[in-house]
Amino acid sequence: MPAQLIDGNALAESIRAEVGARATALTACGHPPGLAVILVGDDPASQVYVKHKVADCDASGVRSVLERYDANLPEAELLARIEALNADPTIHGILVQMPLPKHIAAHKVIETISPLKDVDGFHVQSAGALMIGQPGFKACTPYGCMKLIATTGIDLRGKNAVVIGRSNTVGKPMAMLLLQANATVTICHSGTADIGLHTRQADVVVAAVGRRNVLTADMVKPGAVVIDVGMNRNDEGKLCGDVDFIGVSQVAGWITPVPGGVGPMTRAMLLVNTIEAAERAAA
Ligand code: NAP
Repeated sequence: MPAQLIDGNALAESIRAEVGARATALTACGHPPGLAVILVGDDPASQVYVKHKVADCDASGVRSVLERYDANLPEAELLARIEALNADPTIHGILVQMPLPKHIAAHKVIETISPLKDVDGFHVQSAGALMIGQPGFKACTPYGCMKLIATTGIDLRGKNAVVIGRSNTVGKPMAMLLLQANATVTICHSGTADIGLHTRQADVVVAAVGRRNVLTADMVKPGAVVIDVGMNRNDEGKLCGDVDFIGVSQVAGWITPVPGGVGPMTRAMLLVNTIEAAERAAA
């Protein structure tokens, strides 16, 4: 029996509506929520992501301030601009679109953002808080994946979960969130000898690699929840994930599509983090 589709667009829509109500309440009290979005250079994919993020803010009553800079912006100037936004009481979240030009050290930029405004959840303080189970901003993509998994109604306690990929922004925080939810978690990466050996035991698989067909039907336990974070292009140039969607859908119990799965949820969780930051600042 084919897997049930987990609809990221629909879930993101309902989250945006909920954020919208909270934004209206804050604005009525004189504390309109504000997100600063910084784009350096003219990477075409980044331009599209930023456009969507600004549109999401508009749709949810969150004020967005988009700052665009030339690709040769000196690192020191970017850091100074972030410091200014850290001190601006009308800005509650700061997002610097990655990747940055090579002459700018991304880790310096991330560490310069105030942890109170780190709505991407990339700051070492946010990552550390997640690791030790303290409150803090969760990285938007894994946070969105957890919401997608929650729609299946499956209790993760006692379940086996496999995350494929171990980046600081997706794979590692994803594994931590699954662990917090009491799943037994395995992380696979480019050095894993046999990924299928692990995924065939998994009740939940999250693929976050950036390579087509990393997960195929023969690697999936019947009925498993499959979350596809990957964003790739197929031979026709169309957007596709890391999962062989057609094959895996015949085996899995639930599956996210690409597009329309994790992508819209990443953006929705950015709004959630921003509204939480604004509510905290207003309290
Ligand atoms: P990344 O930083 O490049 O990390 C990729 C991870 O995959 C690394 O840990 C790497 O292992 C692992 N890997 C590479 N080849 C592998 C293989 N053959 N088998 C198993 N593991 C392998 O990428 P990322 O930022 O985590 O993003 C991953 C994918 O998700 C990309 O396609 C990205 O575009 C997409 N993404 C989507 C969203 C969204 O909102 N939909 C958000 C973020 C990212 P090593 O550590 O051993 O090198």
